[in-house]
Amino acid sequence: MNSSPNRRTPTGSGVNYRNAEVERILETLHADVAILGAGGAGLRAAIALAQESPALRIALVSKVYPMRSHTCAAEGGAAGVIKGDDSLEHHFNDTVGGGDWLCDQDAVDYLVREAPRELIQLEHWGCPWSREPDGSVAVRPFGGMKKQRTWFAADKSGFHILHTLFQTSLQFPSIERYDEYYATDLIVDDGRCRGFTAIEMRSGQMKCFLARAVIIASGGAGRMFPFTTNGAIKTGDGMALAYRAGVPLKDMEFVQYHPTGLPNTGTLLTEACRGEGGVLLNRHGRRFLQDYGMGPETPLGKAVLKTMELGPRDRVSQAFWHDQRKGNMVGTQWGDCMLLDMRHLGEKKIDERLPLVRDMAISYLGVDPVTDPVPVRPVVHYMMGGIDTDIRAATPLPGLFAAGECACVSINGANRLGSNSLTELLVFGRRAALSALEFLDSSPAAGNAGVLAARAGEAQARLRELFGRSGETETVAGLRRELTTTMEEHAGIYRSGEGLAEACATLADLRRRYRSVTLHDKTNVYNTDLLQALELGCMLDCAEAVTASALARRESRGAHQRLDFTERDDANFLRHSLACYRGDEAPAIDYRDVVITRSPPGVRDYSGEQK
Ligand SMILES: Cc1cc2nc3c(=O)[nH]c(=O)nc-3n(C[C@H](O)[C@H](O)[C@H](O)COP(=O)(O)OP(=O)(O)OC[C@H]3O[C@@H](n4cnc5c(N)ncnc54)[C@H](O)[C@@H]3O)c2cc1C
Repeated sequence: MNSSPNRRTPTGSGVNYRNAEVERILETLHADVAILGAGGAGLRAAIALAQESPALRIALVSKVYPMRSHTCAAEGGAAGVIKGDDSLEHHFNDTVGGGDWLCDQDAVDYLVREAPRELIQLEHWGCPWSREPDGSVAVRPFGGMKKQRTWFAADKSGFHILHTLFQTSLQFPSIERYDEYYATDLIVDDGRCRGFTAIEMRSGQMKCFLARAVIIASGGAGRMFPFTTNGAIKTGDGMALAYRAGVPLKDMEFVQYHPTGLPNTGTLLTEACRGEGGVLLNRHGRRFLQDYGMGPETPLGKAVLKTMELGPRDRVSQAFWHDQRKGNMVGTQWGDCMLLDMRHLGEKKIDERLPLVRDMAISYLGVDPVTDPVPVRPVVHYMMGGIDTDIRAATPLPGLFAAGECACVSINGANRLGSNSLTELLVFGRRAALSALEFLDSSPAAGNAGVLAARAGEAQARLRELFGRSGETETVAGLRRELTTTMEEHAGIYRSGEGLAEACATLADLRRRYRSVTLHDKTNVYNTDLLQALELGCMLDCAEAVTASALARRESRGAHQRLDFTERDDANFLRHSLACYRGDEAPAIDYRDVVITRSPPGVRDYSGEQK
């Protein structure tokens, strides 16, 4: 069902939105709150808005059908304290330590407090969480989590969560969906965000969404790397839109590598493989993580939560890098790999807990985990950084809120713990909705019609200019290849000042050449050539924010490891980086203190030794 907005009867909130001047330029669609993105965070925000204030008009805008959002691909599960000897304090400590003390601790407190309520809410909306034999919700171990607290639905957790949210959203007529609309520019007037422009893909027409508040929930930007678990839609669009509108991108240098991707496709084999007891071997059959501060070795299949394969992702990926340099990895046609061995779990457990993993390993690699170890290697997975928001999910631009992977609130600090992201989408998706409501209560309705019309006109003119170019030599595919290779070469698991400086220079050059990109397809209907050109522009902006922030951070912390500054430097860098847009120039990097409430920076210990 593509619920065309124009066919639905809006539930009016009584505010008169008509803006004749904008409508003269572009077809205009009006809402109280417009949400950019219909993945987990966007849908959760939309439901919260509709529940809290049924008379609101909510526009939910997405470049893909909601169920195709990346949340659908999440496998392992969502963290929330529920049982055993776990506590909110444990979840807090694991998250803050896992993030190498770069998390804002007030935000982490909010996350862990709200998490159980959100996960139970999903249960009530129909999410089929996996169960223990006694009928209680099952939880599994996850990397860096020292207690079992990851709720899961086999290894299709994201699919079930997204489906639950999507079907729940259908109950609310006030949520007007605009599927397959590509947002291009935020509209800012008088220091406030008033909406955005978007291309309706099936007609190629640009439309203007005017709203009293905007929530960006547009997901991550992993596609700026060539080898990634991320779906093709994760091109950092929302991050780039906010950045160009003057909102800083925070902590962008922290890019997460997941240790276990299939070496040929980058497809993720979830951390739940290790949570359920799978082990990582080098070519000598050694569980090598014990050689990198994640020992001692534990019996096969017995997950001891602090150690070995359940170390945090940054540490496990870095251990791979070191062991690879010692020549200990297994050479394959796709490069060096380690082996993920799950054979000892047995067919019954693998089929019950990891059916998708088995399917994918067989389909993509021809390896059955029941009978053989699976070659895997680290793969770009997640952006810890993103649009600067406060604990209320508000950005510094009034009227603009952000939640989910595109936002940096920040609960993930320098390294996200697996299974905290799905929880974050729910908790901060709802929080963004509540903050937007508070904002609506306090804000006047209309902007300056002339200024809004001018902004919409500018967005349309930029699109026309791109369409009108001819005879230029630069192609989207060519520039994208140079971008992704540069990122892999210089902004990977380990970085150096020299490499990052080279990356910054290359990206500046690519940004200049991007102005000469020519479209081959000049038609209107589902013009993917056009969309990919726009996505490339977004990735270039995000990539510059990553490399400039990484060059300026002269320390090693979490997922940001510098070969030339190998130690964590709390005296100078216990601070968030803020990449600020400067048009044709490289971003300016500013800093803000981390919020520390009760956990002073300490040593990250995953050795499993009793202290
Ligand atoms: C393979 C994989 C497995 C994962 N497993 C787990 C896990 O087990 N546990 C966990 O906690 N986390 C996991 N993660 C991370 C987590 O799934 C993501 O961080 C999260 O789902 C992102 O959700 P989101 O709502 O922020 O964005 P998405 O689900 O990515 O949705 C983004 C939305 O924005 C829309 N959009 C983007 N740009 C535009 C534009 N220009 N115009 C209009 N619409 C736009 C898209 O159409 C989409 O609807 C996994 C990630 C991957 C890739």
